[in-house]
Amino acid sequence: MGRRRRRKVTPVKVRRSIPKVFRCPKCDNESLVATETGTGENGEKEFILKCGVCGFTQKVTVNKNQQAVDAYNKLVDIIAGLARSI
Ligand SMILES: [Zn+2]
Repeated sequence: MGRRRRRKVTPVKVRRSIPKVFRCPKCDNESLVATETGTGENGEKEFILKCGVCGFTQKVTVNKNQQAVDAYNKLVDIIAGLARSI
């Protein structure tokens, strides 16, 4: 008879450490991967931004409410700042 089998619904967990890919400020390839590496003492998030093409690597710390894209924006600011100071 119409016996309905209830499938166990497995909750889909959102992985927080999914790498995001951005444009590398050094070589202009879309190969810069931001990986969350942990949380700092003040609850800040640490990201490692690494380019798979030119090998450029930069650690960026953002506040706890910010995301990978904010880390990337901060990186762009850092690069721009460096360019200005040279
Ligand atoms: Zn690069």
